Amino acid sequence: MPPMGSGGHMRNRFLTEEEKKNRPKVTPELLKRIFSYLMPYWKQLILGLGCIVFSSVLALLPSILTGRIIDDGLIGRNMRMLLILIGLSLLVTFLSNLIGVGQSYLNTWIAQHITFDMRNQMFRHLQMMSQRFFTTNNQGDIITRMTSDIAGVESVISGTFTSILSNVITLTVALIAMARMNGILTLLSLAVVPLFVIPTRLAGKTRWTITQEAQAVNDSINGILNETLSVSGQLLVKLFGKEDYEYGRYREANERMVRLNIRERMAGRWFFVVLSTFTSIGPMALYLAGGILIMKYDSSLTVGDITVMVALLGRLYGPVNSLLNIQVEWIRAMAMFTRIFEYFDMPVEIKSPPHPLRPKAYTGKVSFDHVFFSYEPEREILKDITFDLESGHSIAIVGPSGSGKSTIVNLIPRLYDVTKGRVLFDGLDVRRQSLSAIRRNIGVVTQETYLFNGTIRENLLYAAPDASEEAIWEACRKANIDEFIKKQPDGLDAMVGNRGLKLSGGEKQRLSIARVLLKDPALLIFDEATSSLDSISEELIQKAIDPLIAERTSILIAHRLSTILAADEILVVRDGRIVERGVHKDLVAAGGTYAELYETQFRRAIENESREL
Ligand code: ATP
Repeated sequence: MPPMGSGGHMRNRFLTEEEKKNRPKVTPELLKRIFSYLMPYWKQLILGLGCIVFSSVLALLPSILTGRIIDDGLIGRNMRMLLILIGLSLLVTFLSNLIGVGQSYLNTWIAQHITFDMRNQMFRHLQMMSQRFFTTNNQGDIITRMTSDIAGVESVISGTFTSILSNVITLTVALIAMARMNGILTLLSLAVVPLFVIPTRLAGKTRWTITQEAQAVNDSINGILNETLSVSGQLLVKLFGKEDYEYGRYREANERMVRLNIRERMAGRWFFVVLSTFTSIGPMALYLAGGILIMKYDSSLTVGDITVMVALLGRLYGPVNSLLNIQVEWIRAMAMFTRIFEYFDMPVEIKSPPHPLRPKAYTGKVSFDHVFFSYEPEREILKDITFDLESGHSIAIVGPSGSGKSTIVNLIPRLYDVTKGRVLFDGLDVRRQSLSAIRRNIGVVTQETYLFNGTIRENLLYAAPDASEEAIWEACRKANIDEFIKKQPDGLDAMVGNRGLKLSGGEKQRLSIARVLLKDPALLIFDEATSSLDSISEELIQKAIDPLIAERTSILIAHRLSTILAADEILVVRDGRIVERGVHKDLVAAGGTYAELYETQFRRAIENESREL
């Protein structure tokens, strides 16, 4: 008898308004698709099914045997029979439980394997999603799909499906057994079942409503506490003399909570009174009807038969009650599958062509051919960008904040695709080359350096897992981070902390330069940090990148004059267009955007620097 669950359990039996609104559409395709995940495990499923059928039937046998114990053993005064029947009864119970163990192992095994497949598939799919997907979707949402939705699938497979099956079987077998004994009593039993089931559902619903109300009040109490007991909140209360007002608000919410809590507990109590009365009505009605049949109508019913009927009646409540909840669980399960499949169906926006082309050699040469680009349809970010970067040369891209500098470089490793025009890498359109080959040959040092929680060595080896100790030190030397590493007690094995938090901005950037150096790409893209570093770290970074630029094809998004001067050519970008290009001297003389930037940004930076020194 499973009448009262905890609050949480109760809540699970009813759909929330939101769930009612977003009912999933159950189509044959959806079912077929769910089925396709079960198919690889059909052998285990059939075995599991067999276990469920077998153990549900066995579980009912003792109740049925009780009739024989009474009639043949006790009333028939047959000791041998009595012992055999008691032994049989115990054996059957034991067997049914034994099979139950096997069944739950199978269940768990199947559910775990299906979710294992789904998790991996989801992870692989998410990894292929474009940068656009990650910038537009909420990270929390993505992680929820990966964790709780897929965990939900597990409980559906190991819980819902199994319970539907075993309840249906229990119900059918019990009813057949009853009907074979006496039709009238069976009908009577069916008539009393609702007496139990209806109050259970009503009480469940009442409690659920109260729990939801309590939740809302609880939220508002927490809100008041957060507002008034936080550092800034209490200050506001004090300065405006609102102590009494806030106390009143708190007291009122608290009072509502008390009333709700009392109502919730009492709903449970009243329910028990009603329930236990109704539960005893069933057996009493059967005894009465059975008695009438035996005494008045001379029926062939025995005392044992009536006892069996009463025992079986007790076995009907549970399955009926949980089958009534199945609809809710079913809707939830379908909603969950629909959500997961929605993710699976999101097209992979950026992928390698089926037959990728390969340039003769990767030299890092880049050409933009009348490139247009927009993140969102209405707003064009890049307009008619055309330039060539010869291999071995370097270009500095400068321009006001938001002019589209980072966007330009994002198009080269295909974080996004152009809306019009072409981006060529070593003479071939990037969209016609293998995505992984392009990305292998491009090294990017981003503004926000991303290091994962691990040692310096692990972070460096991410770029080149097979790099030798010498190669690592060589890269660190070039990136000007070797002295720093040597100073660490653990050297290369020093931890960088979560996201590299234990390192300064400059150290992080130099470490990520070393990482890119280990990768040894044909093209280097350096997105200089706008956040101001002190002049010493800037100089260290400058020393790290100067030789780099000299030896390989590079694009620098530059904010400081020294970086700009290190490049062979300067592109000036404004509002997504290249408005000027050339070398520093000529651009300053031209008196355009660059000259303006020079006056306002670079020159001031230099002055600040000299003042600092
Ligand atoms: P900064 O020097 O400040 O880094 P930037 O020149 O590199 O700026 P971009 O980052 O290329 O500028 O951005 C160009 C424009 O595109 C900006 O107006 C920005 O708001 C917009 N933008 C950038 N990323 C996205 C995105 N993922 N979705 C929509 N709009 C974006």
